[in-house]
Amino acid sequence: MRLAGAVTIVPEVSDDPLLAELKERLAEVDDLGGVGGLLAWDQQTCMPPAGAATRAAQRATVHKLAHELFTHDRVGELLEQLVPLEESLPYDSDEAGMLRVTRRAYDKARRVPASLAAEMSHASSEAHEAWVEAREASDFARFRPHLERGLELRQRYIDCFPPSDNPYDILLDDYEEGMTAAEATAVFDELKTTLVPLIDAVVDRADSVDDSFLHGSFPRERQEWLVEEVLQTFGFDRSSWRLDTVVHPFALSLGPGDVRITTRFHEDYLPTALFGAMHECGHGLYEAGIDPRLARTGIGHATSLSIHESQSRMWENLVGRSRPFWQRFFPDLARSFPDTFGGMDAEAFYRGINKVQPSLIRIEADEATYNLHIVLRFELEQDVTAGRLAVADLPEAWNQKMRDYLGIEVPDDAHGVLQDVHWSFGFGYFPTYSLGNVIAGQLWERIRVDIPDIDERIGRAELGELREWLREHIHQHGAKYTMRELLERVVGTGLDPQPYASYLKAKLTDIYGL
Ligand code: ZN
Repeated sequence: MRLAGAVTIVPEVSDDPLLAELKERLAEVDDLGGVGGLLAWDQQTCMPPAGAATRAAQRATVHKLAHELFTHDRVGELLEQLVPLEESLPYDSDEAGMLRVTRRAYDKARRVPASLAAEMSHASSEAHEAWVEAREASDFARFRPHLERGLELRQRYIDCFPPSDNPYDILLDDYEEGMTAAEATAVFDELKTTLVPLIDAVVDRADSVDDSFLHGSFPRERQEWLVEEVLQTFGFDRSSWRLDTVVHPFALSLGPGDVRITTRFHEDYLPTALFGAMHECGHGLYEAGIDPRLARTGIGHATSLSIHESQSRMWENLVGRSRPFWQRFFPDLARSFPDTFGGMDAEAFYRGINKVQPSLIRIEADEATYNLHIVLRFELEQDVTAGRLAVADLPEAWNQKMRDYLGIEVPDDAHGVLQDVHWSFGFGYFPTYSLGNVIAGQLWERIRVDIPDIDERIGRAELGELREWLREHIHQHGAKYTMRELLERVVGTGLDPQPYASYLKAKLTDIYGL
């Protein structure tokens, strides 16, 4: 079988015929995963709307084939026969990692019938199309039957697993292995003890930071130029990346040398495209940094969504919303939009892009209130999954929580319950965003020790050292280590919200003069 850079693999291990057979099968499963990813990418970037029904069927078929190939009895036999080999291998070896991760995924996937997996995939494709239309029309009723269908399928999915104290844990585990709702709640509660009083203090001084200049007239072609400048500094590589425009931005990789990121442009609001592109580029850098020798082995992908989000949020916020970054890039910005920024300085821009104010849209929220948007979704998902809240009552429940947590009124469903694409795919994704913030804070504390002049480097647009640090400590391993193992290796602890809370407190204390 083909393994890029296979020279690093211990020869006698690769020679094991059972391992070779397993690897061949995993390579095919990965190939089908890539094909499915390409179909999904195409659906969101290029496909004409009328192709939706055919595409849903195609994606479901590819998904079903991959599921059948992976859950085949032979994979179970091979895993069983390879136990002695796995036990003889060092924990850190690629093969041990591959066997460990495959065993966990196999045990889980075997519980789910291929027909249910295909139904879920098919329903998701249809739900996505319905969501796009419903959001455009700001009409929850159009999305509601798809959400109800998705929920019914999720209940059948949950029933495939041993009963859990909280059925939501089974859904959460798909996005963040081993994480429970109780543990996520504890992390968020601790985060809130810093965030809630901090947000209150800052909102009281709202007038001291002006961000009105972010709304105005920003012609798309000039935004595109600026986005390209910034992304190239981050590490966007034309020979192996693409940037496209979509309704709801995302990033994915189809394998080594093929990273797809997306953004969307608003000509009347600058941050959407700029910071959105930085965010997706952070995801892309993670995918691009995975060691190519892990490709097509079952561990050549990201380990978890919260690690993924730690990367995107780090590049978007800790780098992209930092003072040194804009000391370097503000002149480029002012040249692009002289009417708006000609008479301004970098410091005013830095303060403006970090203004904290309760707002309606999650992906445009500031770093502090962002986490309350996540808590709101996390609570609603748990209520709906547990049957405490009917899908039909989601819009009102959403609007009530926006009042309670952020003190604002939701004008319509497009700016409320319909704003995010995720519920067309299922429940359990959202907590990983705030966990990603928390992890980014922990990693950044470590980065400051290892790269003491990180601020000066950012100020000179020299980001290679940071990129290399992340590649070495996080990216290269793919899925070999779990999120907890990675944290333990890199920062020596488990999840800890304190570094992120301290980072935010210091930043906002400085900006608002608290
Ligand atoms: Zn993201």
